Amino acid sequence: MKMPRKVNRFCPYCKKRTEQKVKEQSHGKPSTLKRGSKQRAMLRGLNRGIGNKGRFSRMKNQAKQKRKTTKKTAIVYTCSVCGKGKDQKKGKRTSKITIE
Ligand SMILES: [Zn+2]
Repeated sequence: MKMPRKVNRFCPYCKKRTEQKVKEQSHGKPSTLKRGSKQRAMLRGLNRGIGNKGRFSRMKNQAKQKRKTTKKTAIVYTCSVCGKGKDQKKGKRTSKITIE
């Protein structure tokens, strides 16, 4: 999906339509040590030794397989007049977003 770099939208701080910058929100990196993760179980001393380890014994490809190909992208609008007006909105489901 293509998005323009600047759009005219309503700013709730200026209370009028202003030119606003369009930016895709960065999600950051997911934590590897969250509850129920395999790495956390490894640190606790689980998932070691021989034999069937239940959900830890799953095939690598099975867990990595991508099921969903699209995501809703969060778009951040910043007002060019006051600068603080950061309005987030969930966009349509797309696999890729390009801001031009
Ligand atoms: Zn504003």
